Amino acid sequence: MTGKSDVPAQYEIYAIRYGINPRRTRGQNFILDARPDEPLTLDFYSWVLIRRGEVIVVDTGMNPAFAEKHGHDMLMSPIEALKALGVRPDAVETVILTHAHYDHLGHLDAFPNARFFMQAEEMNYVTGPYMEKRWFRRAYEPDEITQLVRLLHDGRLELHGRDREIADGVTVHWVGGHCAGQEIVRVRTARGWVVLASDALHYYEEYERGVPFAVAFNLSDMITAHDRIRELADSDDHVVPAHDPRVAGIYPPASQELDGKVVRVDLAPVKSMDSR
Ligand SMILES: [Zn+2]
Repeated sequence: MTGKSDVPAQYEIYAIRYGINPRRTRGQNFILDARPDEPLTLDFYSWVLIRRGEVIVVDTGMNPAFAEKHGHDMLMSPIEALKALGVRPDAVETVILTHAHYDHLGHLDAFPNARFFMQAEEMNYVTGPYMEKRWFRRAYEPDEITQLVRLLHDGRLELHGRDREIADGVTVHWVGGHCAGQEIVRVRTARGWVVLASDALHYYEEYERGVPFAVAFNLSDMITAHDRIRELADSDDHVVPAHDPRVAGIYPPASQELDGKVVRVDLAPVKSMDSR
């Protein structure tokens, strides 16, 4: 038997660098950093997994109005990036939402035929008593949370438990920390298991030094998430943070036209750790 079903599903993974904040400092990014005034650019990514005709979108980028409100610059529309990759947003059937912060939840309307997947714990969090506290609600936009409620009542949002298989070769795993329902995405690729850490890691530096990012719900979950990431990824070179400019610097571009904008993280990094 050499049927197709014998071959494990392997995905291509495209990381779309749709935004940037070059004015960000280390002190805004890391708690009690030794050099708080030093600049440390924050990039913004969303992702798409592609396998033959199958497409799974992971996070939907940021509404440009909220980018402006929060002081970030848009580099491109993640929706236009999908089109440049040959993906029709209205044909996408599956969207994973790793958490509900505004920079991961824009453009929901661009996917009218999709089913959305998110941690039940995140929905409880964003509609529960923690949102009475400014600290916890500061990275959420109520209009977008309202959209999630609408999708839920339309039967298009599945709120799942902590570990969930979305497709053969694609699983999601709760880690918490950054927010109550933060999850990471494990994807089988030709080079092995890649982990899209989403905001469980904003920067490689958190992972390398074992330090927390400054936007936190639960610090102990945030730090122990690093261990979970190590368990699920085939190596440290298979781990992809959500906001680190190094990602675009070390992975190969999806195409010449998309150089600097979309990189292939299912392929091995083309530059060494030191050049990160
Ligand atoms: Zn984020």
